[in-house]
Amino acid sequence: MKNIIYLLFTGAPGSGKGYLGECTINELKAQNKITETEAEIIATGDLIRAEVKSGSDLGKQIKAVMEAGQLVSDEIVERLLMKNLIESQAKLIIFDGYPRTVAQVDCMLRIAGNTSVIIIHRDTPTELILERVKKRRICSKCGKVQTNEHDNCIECHAPLAIRKDDAVIEQRLALYQQETLPALEMLRLCYGSSTYTVNGQQEATETAKMLIENQLANLFD
Ligand code: ADP
Repeated sequence: MKNIIYLLFTGAPGSGKGYLGECTINELKAQNKITETEAEIIATGDLIRAEVKSGSDLGKQIKAVMEAGQLVSDEIVERLLMKNLIESQAKLIIFDGYPRTVAQVDCMLRIAGNTSVIIIHRDTPTELILERVKKRRICSKCGKVQTNEHDNCIECHAPLAIRKDDAVIEQRLALYQQETLPALEMLRLCYGSSTYTVNGQQEATETAKMLIENQLANLFD
């Protein structure tokens, strides 16, 4: 991998875009295309939840916004994102859930400059999203998002909780239509041939393998 690459995973809340990002990195590592330190996932939802958990003034300010199913302001998300991006040494950065608004696409264009940007839209039917969100749990300690398959976190074994914002999933799906679909349209205009839509009904590990074989193959020569 010669240059820095940004992979932008987008999709509705609960579409499984974050999980697909994780599977893609894991598969790239398994195929020895990248090393442990070369790749990083930046998930704006995780950054926001971490800020809330820290109890900072900013965290207190954004807690209610997030739990009401609203989007956190573009300025705040940009600030949290930049802090992480500046510190990152990774050559492959997966953005999970950013950009979500047209203003955030503007920001991404500024940040990316000449970096190679690839957009992957996980297109998942609403019924499946609602089903998945019902089963979604978050670790009360480490914040890992997972399913209700286990009673405790698969990584740190702490108890799992239901995410408060999952109770307002309908509201978040409406915001997705209103704010994020226009942003996706703009990404398509800017990055045209590097924008791919994948089937959200397909098992994410399979989709990740297909992406690596087809769309991402020449990035790792
Ligand atoms: P989901 O994929 O289910 O939307 P996330 O963890 O990505 O879950 O996001 C959770 C919440 O964090 C969002 O509902 C929103 O309040 C906030 N959030 C995450 N990313 C952004 C963003 N790029 N812009 C504004 N708010 C965001």
